[in-house]
Amino acid sequence: MADTKYVYTFGDGKADGNTTQKELLGGKGANLAEMSRIGLPVPAGFTITTEVCTYFYDNDRTYPPELKDQVNAAIADAEKCMGKKYGDPTNPLLLSCRSGARESMPGMMDTVLNIGINEEVVQALIKQSGNEHFAWDSYRRLIQMYGDVVLGLKPENKNQDDHFEVILDAAREKEGVEHEAGLSVAAIKQIVVDFKKVIKDHAGIDFPEDPMEQLWGCIGAVFGSWGNDRAAVYRRMNGIPHSWGTATNVQAMVFGNLGDTCATGVGLTRNCSDGTPGFCGDYLINAQGEDVVAGTRTPKRVEETLQQDKPEAFEQLTNIGKTLEQHYKDVQDIEFTVEDGKVWMLQTRNAKRTGFAAVRIAVDLVNEGLIDAKTALEKRRIPADDLNQLLQPIFNPSDKEQAQKDNRLLAKGINAGPGAATGQIVFHASDAEETYNKDNDVQLILVRKETSPEDLRGMKVAKGILTAFGGASSHAALVSRQMGKTCVCGCDSLNIDYEAGTVTVAGQVLKGGDWISVDGFTGEVFAGKIETSPSEVMEVMTGNMKPEESEVYQRYAQLMAWADEHRKLNVRANTESHDAEISLQLGAEGVGLCRTEHMFFDHLDEMREMIFSTTVEDREKALAKLIKFQRDDFTHLFKVMAGKAVTIRLLDPPLHEFLSEHHMHEDPALAGKLAKTFGVTEEDVKRRVAELVESNPMLGHRGCRLGIVYPEITAMQARAILEAAVACKKEGIEVLPEIMIPLAGYKAEVDNQTAVIKATAAKVFDEMGESVEYMTGTMIEIPRAALTAGEIADTAEFFSFGTNDLTQTGLGISRDDYKGFIGYYTENDIMPADPFQTVDQTGIGRLMKIAVADGRETRPDLKIGICGEHGGDPKSVYFCHEIGLNYVSCSPRRIPIARLAAAQAAVEAG
Ligand code: PEP
Ligand code: MG
Repeated sequence: MADTKYVYTFGDGKADGNTTQKELLGGKGANLAEMSRIGLPVPAGFTITTEVCTYFYDNDRTYPPELKDQVNAAIADAEKCMGKKYGDPTNPLLLSCRSGARESMPGMMDTVLNIGINEEVVQALIKQSGNEHFAWDSYRRLIQMYGDVVLGLKPENKNQDDHFEVILDAAREKEGVEHEAGLSVAAIKQIVVDFKKVIKDHAGIDFPEDPMEQLWGCIGAVFGSWGNDRAAVYRRMNGIPHSWGTATNVQAMVFGNLGDTCATGVGLTRNCSDGTPGFCGDYLINAQGEDVVAGTRTPKRVEETLQQDKPEAFEQLTNIGKTLEQHYKDVQDIEFTVEDGKVWMLQTRNAKRTGFAAVRIAVDLVNEGLIDAKTALEKRRIPADDLNQLLQPIFNPSDKEQAQKDNRLLAKGINAGPGAATGQIVFHASDAEETYNKDNDVQLILVRKETSPEDLRGMKVAKGILTAFGGASSHAALVSRQMGKTCVCGCDSLNIDYEAGTVTVAGQVLKGGDWISVDGFTGEVFAGKIETSPSEVMEVMTGNMKPEESEVYQRYAQLMAWADEHRKLNVRANTESHDAEISLQLGAEGVGLCRTEHMFFDHLDEMREMIFSTTVEDREKALAKLIKFQRDDFTHLFKVMAGKAVTIRLLDPPLHEFLSEHHMHEDPALAGKLAKTFGVTEEDVKRRVAELVESNPMLGHRGCRLGIVYPEITAMQARAILEAAVACKKEGIEVLPEIMIPLAGYKAEVDNQTAVIKATAAKVFDEMGESVEYMTGTMIEIPRAALTAGEIADTAEFFSFGTNDLTQTGLGISRDDYKGFIGYYTENDIMPADPFQTVDQTGIGRLMKIAVADGRETRPDLKIGICGEHGGDPKSVYFCHEIGLNYVSCSPRRIPIARLAAAQAAVEAG
């Protein structure tokens, strides 16, 4: 059997590998091969595959036996290409050794340059280059990197001495120069001696003079760096499996530090902050690779000065940029070195970009004819979540940077509602409302331990919401997202004292009125003000800007049109009345969830009257007051959504969400007020409140259990919905109501509530002399419903997955109380992600698949959607596409993200 091929060579217009082999060769190796194939100037070298990395870890840090011969042959190839010999005392080839995983892990693993220098070779370098400074400095760098990386002498923290830097500092000080480049040759020669002594003293060995020993030391260090701590943390943060391993790239050195005809730099084939076309980047004349990123010298800008400094290099670079974009059909992030006026390519990869740049680049590349619209939609080009940057206010980057520099970061919580908000702290919703009513321009951040429905009005007028408790589907989070408010929740380092009117965090005590800034993209909380810019897309949608005034909007609209052409999933909004219009602007094709209780929060007095009723008659009287508000809200919703389906869910939360001890505590006069209104004693009020207390409210008397015990509530809601629908129909508006039963687990529950709805419908249609088509269906949000979906579909005409509750009940994890362990769980690979943000496909997803299959077996045309918070999460949207749902429904601001994600799922599926 032939030996496994572990080494792939490249250089001189040839290569064993190509860009499709990232799994085997890593991103860097695959692209060095590809660049060599397409004739770009790449210093010759070879890639040792990721399989060797796996072998290395599985076999006690040893290599496959055939590797040595393959490496020797590859060195001989590189020698031929470069016309030099590794370790040769007259014409030496030097090598670099770099890591390169399948996905880039910038700065996480190790690199060693100038490998192959020893006391003999350094003399040859002096002769060849005629530059003694360069030769000794290269040697000095090798010893330092070898010590740091191979022998592990790099200090782990700031408190440990960096022996090499101490020596360099002393030398610089002695010669009065700022940078090593200014040191005399004599000084560098002495440093080489001193560095070797450091190695002897601290690693207990002599610096290896044998070039092959040097090289194998470096190869081992690079493979070893895959297992280092920071690389492991980075992989966890970015969802990169530990099993992938890194490749190691060994490549001929080219020198940017041979004098003023040389340079080194990094660049982008177009601007990746805003997407503007044109090459840009940083370079340093007479410098070696790591000097550009190390920050010890300030680099110059390619687009500003390179044309003047080195016109030939500028031209080569611009042409290479064009070739790369033509070839890769995407913006590239490159590393290059100019040696004696010739540009050499050391790396290329698809560049990371902001959401703004992603949209602009994708649309521009289509317009330039490089790609088609379908390709522009690929998720690697525009991660759907990044569209958020176009839809929400953002911090001005320089102001945020300044806040970071000034150490104003106070805490980090869950990034529950994207956007950036800055404002004055207010602790109570009523204060927020009062302040806002006096001055509509006021900027407020509502800071709460947690939010409750009563805070809704305060949330509406605040720019942002910050809470100490609660997770990604807590009340604060889902209401904020629905309102399009920036929200950071579950920030448990906040110590809020409502009585004192203070929040203590990171040793600082902030008072009401103090400025604070919250970043809903990252979960960061900063002290003080950070300026924000509004979203141009939203400015156009709300009529504050004309479409022709905003290029950002035009490109966004173009991209969305392409997404709509390709997607199969419909996208609806989770919305009540007030944000129905903006939902439409954002592309909603109907309403997937109208949480009727949100409408009640605006009519708490009437709701509380209903709660206080002890007889059916009293309850009906109170409901008669509420029906008017509900009917008006539904009428508005039907009118805005004319011709589109509107799913309205019956009352879901437990009654104590409208009246609890928490409310009494917040407003000490409340018991008295309610006693007076309802003609009862304060004691009666307190008794009723006590009756409503539940020790595990999410599992108590809520959902359809309310409507079953109090059928008059369901009847009132069904009446309001259908009266509004008939009235609209009479006005010539097409209405498609879907009445949804919450939290059912038994077919009998669905039967019970469907019967109440149908009986009410018959009465309403009879009274109004007109009928409308409507559907009745149920949420699937507890496991029993998923497992008995076949039976339930006998009655239910549609399903909507309530994945917030399905996750809560399926995992047995409270959606409001998981903050204490979720961070630990994800950091320690116990859970891959927050299951309240991204559907747990293995467990909850399995329940969903069962419900889809069994439900459709009973009723083949069963319409199925999702309305939990996951409906706006791209990964969950891909999953919904995969399991054949009809639609996803999400909060209004996430609609464009869901549209794009749905298109990406369809494009990917081919
Ligand atoms: C759900 O549980 O997913 C859902 C949409 O209902 P709610 O969040 O209102 O409980
Ligand atoms: Mg629910």
